[in-house]
Amino acid sequence: MSGPHFLQIPGPSPVPERILRAIDQQVIDHRGPTFQKLGHEVLDGLHAVFGTKQPVIVYPASGTGAWEAAIVNTLSPGDKVVMAETGQFATLWQKLATRFGIEVDFIPGDWRHGVDAAQIEAKLAADKTGAIKAVMVVHNETSTGALSDIASVRKAIDKAGHGALLMVDTISSLGSAPVKHDEWGVDVTVSGSQKGLMLPPGLSFNAVSQKALAASKTNKMPRSYWDWNEMISFNGKGFFPYTPATNLLYGLKEALAMLNEEGLENVFARHRRLAEACRAAVKGWGLEILCQDPKVYSPILTGIVMPQGHDADNFRKVALENFNISYGAGLGKVAGKVFRIGHLGDCNEAILMGALAATEMSLELANVPHKKGGVDAAMASLLAAKSGAEKVRLSA
Ligand SMILES: *Cc1c(COP(=O)(O)O)cnc(C)c1O
Repeated sequence: MSGPHFLQIPGPSPVPERILRAIDQQVIDHRGPTFQKLGHEVLDGLHAVFGTKQPVIVYPASGTGAWEAAIVNTLSPGDKVVMAETGQFATLWQKLATRFGIEVDFIPGDWRHGVDAAQIEAKLAADKTGAIKAVMVVHNETSTGALSDIASVRKAIDKAGHGALLMVDTISSLGSAPVKHDEWGVDVTVSGSQKGLMLPPGLSFNAVSQKALAASKTNKMPRSYWDWNEMISFNGKGFFPYTPATNLLYGLKEALAMLNEEGLENVFARHRRLAEACRAAVKGWGLEILCQDPKVYSPILTGIVMPQGHDADNFRKVALENFNISYGAGLGKVAGKVFRIGHLGDCNEAILMGALAATEMSLELANVPHKKGGVDAAMASLLAAKSGAEKVRLSA
């Protein structure tokens, strides 16, 4: 097929040319002075995007590795934790924790809402002996399109007067929505490279609080590769205890530069604008948005429910074969029932409109019942979002 592929999955997101060019360089000595400068630059540069002054640890691993690192550095087998079933990613993190002998109190969810802080508060308030060691939640639930309110989870922990650690998966929100590790009082912020940071898969992160670091000195989980303390002591000099993913770090330096040039607030506003337009299209088609709480609509992706009797995977196949576009599949419980449009990372109005036009045409070709006019509604939403000054320039 001619022309670029429309990679509209909610991660990995398309990698900008600037980042591809930055990665396409010779490997250097990871114990030498040139690397040391790069090491300091990326480790310092990560602070702003995580909203922290605390250490941010970088692993040559997918996001799942950083999930595991958060657990093995802070918890001990037999520990109790509270998690919230926001969707497939919360479910996978819960399974991972269980494999390490963690006893998970998994608050059930319908995969259509964000985290309910009141339920977490009730669990913690009832825990008079302090048996619960951590609250672990997913910020942007990529399987559904709900961006949970992490500040409300912090408040719930404080209101219950409980000492549990707060661990948050920001794998698909970092770089696309505000992440405030320090302000929200998060103890471990887990993240990854291939979504809002616009990098290829292969890097993941743990931002850690002093309290989490203190827990890492006494917890009983064996680990070596994931050990924070070894990492932090090497990172202090700009180095890593083992071979880092050098070329991805070249890319990370470029990604951070791009985010800073646009300005983080502008990046977040762009994501909100594109998401709003995507939802306008879905409503225009008369289809249902998977997330049922407008307060937590994700700026990163939109999950769309297929009308009864229509298979989402067949729809995705029709779209791929006719228009060279990929959407996220329905995962876990909503497999075949849902598809997801990603509008994160290196995305803009024209890319989104191309994707939405391909979607509207694919709905027609796949015989999915829908109304016309979703694309028009999205264009109207994008135009309405232009500021007054921009509109004047447009009409001149
Ligand atoms: C993508 C994603 C993961 C999994 O990350 P991998 O890099 O595939 O290991 C976990 N949590 C969330 C919220 C994600 O979006």
